[in-house]
Amino acid sequence: MALHTATAIIDLSALTHNYQTIKTLAPKAKVLAVLKANGYGHGLERIAKALPNADAFGVARIDEALALRAAGIVQPIVLLEGFFADSDIAILAANNFATVIHNQQQLSAILNAKLEQPLKVWLKIDTGMHRLGINPEQFSQFYQALSQSPNVQKSLVLMSHLGCADDKTASTTPKQMALFDALCADSKLEKSLANSAAVLCWPESHYQWIRPGLLLYGVSPLPQAETIDGVKPVMTLQSSLIAVREIAAGEAVGYGGAWVSKQKTTVGVIAIGYGDGYPRHAQNGTPVLLNGRRVPLIGRVSMDMITVDLGQHSTDKIGDIATLWGKGLNIEEIAQAATSIPYELLCNISRRVKVQLAQ
Ligand SMILES: *Cc1c(COP(=O)(O)O)cnc(C)c1O
Repeated sequence: MALHTATAIIDLSALTHNYQTIKTLAPKAKVLAVLKANGYGHGLERIAKALPNADAFGVARIDEALALRAAGIVQPIVLLEGFFADSDIAILAANNFATVIHNQQQLSAILNAKLEQPLKVWLKIDTGMHRLGINPEQFSQFYQALSQSPNVQKSLVLMSHLGCADDKTASTTPKQMALFDALCADSKLEKSLANSAAVLCWPESHYQWIRPGLLLYGVSPLPQAETIDGVKPVMTLQSSLIAVREIAAGEAVGYGGAWVSKQKTTVGVIAIGYGDGYPRHAQNGTPVLLNGRRVPLIGRVSMDMITVDLGQHSTDKIGDIATLWGKGLNIEEIAQAATSIPYELLCNISRRVKVQLAQ
């Protein structure tokens, strides 16, 4: 007997297909493929190597950038939040990493650094999301200082980030774009604004560089579990049935006895739990794909197992493969049933989940 435990099947042909779809949506823009948080749970190096045509990669931590270089990735790599320690500047220079600059501390550190080669800088402006970025009033000071510094390459990229790009009716996005345009009006520099949702919903936001993350992995960034034509899920998460049990009406299942059977039925136990990254808050009724049908999650999610109601006439057997999300079962729907978002589910895939490449 050899039962499967939690396995993420990664379909790299879906990834390149999604990349092509994104290129069709934004034909004139260069692509900074966002790979932070272990390539959204899909494997940092694996995803980078499968995107040889990407113009650049975006990460959130310098360790992620170093791991990409160690894996032989030669494309430009941008630190999307910049550096967090002045001593990192030497590492940026040595590895040809580009850095976002979003505050005065980073600016001073760059200007005062002793460098042999100038660094590539993306200047981040806060146009209304109020997370990272310099204030619009600081723009000309930063712009002047960076343009004149021998430590900075002349080809600055100007960037900002949209707070509500996934809401096609939000008035904030046109306002953010208008402010971005007004600030950047005099400059011939390259600009970047669009994440996945903006790639889909706001063509005016594409500029010279788009920054898709989630869409590359074949998942919709839009609310209401709205799926997107032209992209395919890269990850399919599977495990197997490790027990099939008959229970009588009125019996409780799992921790806290949180689910009680209304009738005689068959309970299936699947070897996956929150220790693998399956969301603990998935509600009763969250679908699991098993032998060509959807069966409902019942009871609480445990660390290593979940329970599903196979119904009275089940013919399911120990060892049968269950799909938790991916091909045939949209992660958007699972995220909604768990009051979460696909981003969080993907990032939470844990180390013990095996990875297998799709044939
Ligand atoms: C994570 C990130 C993105 C990608 O966002 P998606 O919604 O996954 O497309 C783009 N830009 C920045 C600055 C980010 O941090």
